[in-house]
Amino acid sequence: MPIDPALEDRVLAEIDALEGELVDALQRAVRIASVEPKYPGQSYDELVGREGEVARLVSAVHAEAGAETELVAIEPGRDNACATIPGAGGGRSLVFNGHIDVVPVGNLGTWTQADPFSGAVADGRVLGRGSGDMKAGVLAQAYAALALRRAGVRLQGDLKLAAVVGEEVGDHTCGTTATIDAGYGADLAVIGEPTAPPAPLCIVPVTPGLLWFSVTVAGRTAHSGFRGETVHPTVYGSELGVNAIDKAFAVYQAVNGLEAEWAQAKRHPLFPNGKFAILPGVIQGSPYGIDVPFFLAESTVIEYCAMFHPGDDCATAKAEIEACIARAADADPWLREHRPVVEWKLEWEPYVLADDHPVLPLIERAHERAVLGTALAGPARRHGFAGVCDATWYEAKGIPSVIYGPGDLRLAHAADESVSIAETVAACRTYALLAMEWCGVA
Ligand SMILES: [Zn+2]
Repeated sequence: MPIDPALEDRVLAEIDALEGELVDALQRAVRIASVEPKYPGQSYDELVGREGEVARLVSAVHAEAGAETELVAIEPGRDNACATIPGAGGGRSLVFNGHIDVVPVGNLGTWTQADPFSGAVADGRVLGRGSGDMKAGVLAQAYAALALRRAGVRLQGDLKLAAVVGEEVGDHTCGTTATIDAGYGADLAVIGEPTAPPAPLCIVPVTPGLLWFSVTVAGRTAHSGFRGETVHPTVYGSELGVNAIDKAFAVYQAVNGLEAEWAQAKRHPLFPNGKFAILPGVIQGSPYGIDVPFFLAESTVIEYCAMFHPGDDCATAKAEIEACIARAADADPWLREHRPVVEWKLEWEPYVLADDHPVLPLIERAHERAVLGTALAGPARRHGFAGVCDATWYEAKGIPSVIYGPGDLRLAHAADESVSIAETVAACRTYALLAMEWCGVA
């Protein structure tokens, strides 16, 4: 049933009135350096507890919105801020989800922001790690609930909120899955991840899948003085030595070839051509325990992150990659006998929302209404997500999701992260309007 436009205007006016508070809460949230404690290379003991601080900040907004609040923690200090605003009955339920863990700052030398957790405001943006990915989305959701209350809106369906930990490493059993198991599932999840590019606030019904894996290639060490005789084996060959780095490049080239095949064959209307790719992000090869080039390298490890087509699943993508590496090994006399070892480190299934799901026209309309008369005005745009997100774990529990939120993924996981305040407010407006449309107004 269409919502009374006067009621919509009242809700939007409340959001305008709350903008200062929303920005202030976002600044305070960014200042808590809630780096994911299980991120590789981080100290769990040093970082644990900061997510809990953010959860309490968000939970206070939930409480102000009239919600029943609860902190759900699987590991001490790692609280998920959960909340329910019970509906009057008869409507569909909705859960707003966002994550409160952030990635590490990376190379501080490449940041021009003096403090990566300043939460400062400049040029209409809130600055700092975690601003766009994705504390802006979490707080836009919380303030949407608060604006509904201020405007006196009583929904028919339950509105739930889950600000979760663990997303950045796929640790959903501590985060999103724990909240669903604690009763914070719903008929639909709206995940507030940053959904630019290509445009601000795209509506995202699909994500690729992700595989993190390593390939270890063995060599046989020898004095560096025999490099020539071993790589051009006219005299000694592999019985004297094999440089593992050279052999790893046979694997590297084969996987590059598979990536090029994917670029041709694996296309999707909501993703740019060539989207599905296999990143060799880490390569380490050396003699055993010694980082000097006076021995042939004994071992080389390449670590990859594959983003694969949403029409495939982890099992089929793994089989393609394993077959590709096996073909490379079969073609090389040394690798035939000394097979590369593939280790699967993280498997994240893709997510696809059905094209005819009823939320799609509703969120498109809500977005267009939310940005009307602002610099972001224009038709809603559907696009695929550049990465993976918690939609996968809702799907595993039978809950469909749509992803929509402020921020730009090109700034996430990069130096000088920031988020636009205008986008954050627009997202808040869309969330509030969508909640009324989806859940119904009593
Ligand atoms: Zn994120």
